[in-house]
Amino acid sequence: MKIKDQSKPYDSKKSCWVPNPEEGFVEGMIQGTKGDLVTVDAAGETKNFKKAQVHQVNPPKYEKCEDMSNLTHLNDPSVLYNLKARYVNQLIYTYSGLFCIVINPYKRYPIYTNRTVKIYMGKRRNEVPPHLFAISDGAYMAMMQVGDNQSMLITGESGAGKTENTKKVLSYFANVGSSESKDKPAENKKNLEDQIVQTNPVLEAFGNAKTVRNDNSSRFGKFIRIHFQPNGKLSGADIEVYLLEKARVISQQSLERSYHIFYEMMTDQVKELKPSCLLSNDIYDYHYVSQGKVTVPSIDDGEDMQFCHDAFDVLGFTADEVTNIYKITASVMHFGEVKFKQRGREEQAEADGTETGGRVAKLLGIDTGDLYMAITKPKIKVGTEFVAKGMNVNQCNYSVGAMAKALFDRVFKFIVSKCNDTLATGLKRACFIGVLDIAGFEIFDFNGFEQICINFCNEKLQQFFNHHMFVLEQEEYKKEGINWVFVDFGMDLQACIELFEKKMGILSILEEESMFPKATDKSFAEKLSNNHLGKTPVFIKPKPPKAGQEEAHFAIVHYAGTSGGGDDKKGGRGGKSGSFKTVSSAYRDQLQNLMRTLNATSLTSFVASYPTNQDPWQGGRWFGYASADL
Ligand code: ATP
Ligand code: MG
Repeated sequence: MKIKDQSKPYDSKKSCWVPNPEEGFVEGMIQGTKGDLVTVDAAGETKNFKKAQVHQVNPPKYEKCEDMSNLTHLNDPSVLYNLKARYVNQLIYTYSGLFCIVINPYKRYPIYTNRTVKIYMGKRRNEVPPHLFAISDGAYMAMMQVGDNQSMLITGESGAGKTENTKKVLSYFANVGSSESKDKPAENKKNLEDQIVQTNPVLEAFGNAKTVRNDNSSRFGKFIRIHFQPNGKLSGADIEVYLLEKARVISQQSLERSYHIFYEMMTDQVKELKPSCLLSNDIYDYHYVSQGKVTVPSIDDGEDMQFCHDAFDVLGFTADEVTNIYKITASVMHFGEVKFKQRGREEQAEADGTETGGRVAKLLGIDTGDLYMAITKPKIKVGTEFVAKGMNVNQCNYSVGAMAKALFDRVFKFIVSKCNDTLATGLKRACFIGVLDIAGFEIFDFNGFEQICINFCNEKLQQFFNHHMFVLEQEEYKKEGINWVFVDFGMDLQACIELFEKKMGILSILEEESMFPKATDKSFAEKLSNNHLGKTPVFIKPKPPKAGQEEAHFAIVHYAGTSGGGDDKKGGRGGKSGSFKTVSSAYRDQLQNLMRTLNATSLTSFVASYPTNQDPWQGGRWFGYASADL
């Protein structure tokens, strides 16, 4: 979409937007109308369009309008045009009634400085230009005046800018609620506001990774609550995390990377770290973390290592705890090199050299022999007794992978719980403001269990978001005395959510199948098709795979696109044991809990972020989405 030539005449009747294959939409002039056809002069040619394709243009006074709910003509091209006109002028925040739209600039604008924070503190929304800080301040003021807990939801697909905006929100609150300690001498360096902000480098090192869509993609969801004392000063914070993507710990697609920390540790930034973790100088010595990219041009792993290392200190981790975190993380890398071979003609596997296993054992503080024994001949409980079960090479490799994933996941959870200990100050907590930052909606060539969880969560959240939006918006109508029949557009996503949640829905079938020892990916897919294919528009057959791609088993129509649900091999299904059930049902419980928390708070702050690297101005699914929200 091109930015308007301001010298072009505006005609309230004839100026119009029409679709254009290159630009998405272009502005034109209506020449005449005949039945359902409108003749329009646009982009240097005269063409006929159907009436429904021709949209009115807003008068010039609405140029770069701050709140799009004020536009005279609210149509897709007008909304897109306004966002773009603002965006090219470095105005990335725009209101749309009760919520705020952010366009990711992929550039650092000086709009988050301390000076900017001061400008927004205590101001009304209409006194200052649209900004995330205005929204944040609104939440803070509402909390102080009404005494309600608040929450801010930031939605958007992967790479849209959720995490960046969340960080800015947190530092805003840390600033607004900071106590006088700032003026105190340096001994007070580890103050609460720093600690809140310093959780980011640590969580990102262990929970973010490069994906095709985002060099710093969050592979977990988080809900951070900042607690305030009755006087509005900070009293603490806590972080809840949702489902870290574990599959990535041992496998990556060719254009992706595993978690940043693995590559950060391979730099020589922190002295003695590599030798103490028994690491070599070559990342390719570690198959688990070198199946895709190993460096990312936009990322300085050495610098980030230092940030993470310093943050551990600010957050009160002891030197021992930090060393152990690094050692366990390194053991994950070594685990991938532990090799097994078949013992003679037996099915039984045995160690194929014990050097690497020795390293793992040393790092974990366990006995090498015990480690190999636990993998090759694990003790299982049969009735009341324990018996040793012989494992073949495949089974051993599988156990090692599962162990590596579980170790990393637990390190991550340990870090979060340690952060929570530090952020629980014992000061009185009167109210909180919660900020939700989830892993954004994503569709890859191959979508496994973890994509299903991410997308389901996004779907649920979007529904929650829409529902609240419409309820709040329509309450405004009522206040203004407008005669209005309540419509809940927010329920549009219900069919998809039900497909997941209902009895015999995707989640319950998955849990059920996981209990059957003989269940396979195929039997799971068949059961799903038998129950849902042809019975709901949101469950469909997948597209045939592209050359060289694995075949998907089914496809789900999400609000943001269609994802072919792949099989679960890479998705951490945990073999055919019952362990999977706990993963998906625990996740479901966690989500339900989150929804309850959100429901119990005042939810007036919505931020919808959009990436620009996918050229949203060209339309596509972005359209339907924007118009549905407005
Ligand atoms: P995911 O769902 O994958 O975690 P996300 O929505 O959290 O995605 P971010 O990681 O916040 O996306 O943003 C992706 C990248 O876009 C950032 O690393 C940064 O380079 C850039 N970016 C996002 N927002 C801004 C901003 N306000 N200013 C400058 N750059 C930004
Ligand atoms: Mg993110």
